[in-house]
Amino acid sequence: MHCPSCHAQDTKVIETRILQNGMAVRRRRRCEDCDKRFTTYENFTQQLPAIVKADGRRENFNREKIIKGLTKACQKRPVSRDQIHGLIDGLERHMADLSVKEISSNVIGNYVMEELYKLDPVSYVRFASFYWTFNDIEDFVLNLEKNIRPPQLDGESLVDKGIMSEQ
Ligand SMILES: [Zn+2]
Repeated sequence: MHCPSCHAQDTKVIETRILQNGMAVRRRRRCEDCDKRFTTYENFTQQLPAIVKADGRRENFNREKIIKGLTKACQKRPVSRDQIHGLIDGLERHMADLSVKEISSNVIGNYVMEELYKLDPVSYVRFASFYWTFNDIEDFVLNLEKNIRPPQLDGESLVDKGIMSEQ
């Protein structure tokens, strides 16, 4: 791998970790020229269905795009990069298991949001706020109410989960 910072051709692997029972590998690398440290992931490439968007257009599944959205939503939250990549790995397996040629973008959005909710409800609310296209704030609140259900909170209130403040 080339260095993403100075583009030197040689970078050293300083740590290798096997993830998801050998389904993925994470490597920490260091550039010997500029000392930049960065992380790479290796995953299996699967034949994934095409995504059908709400307006009917088709596009290829873009892992990086979802990772970008999730990383933004999880900024300063207790969700690790490994958890984000693990979530997408699960999504890819889920999509491959469906054995279909096309899949609605809604299916993907719902899967991601459900899994993100389990990891961190605050990140979920943030992700939902850029994922949904809202006409107005009322729509947004309505969607939140529909999608966050008390039974999923396992007895903890929204205050405990950090979604609402005490006052
Ligand atoms: Zn470098």
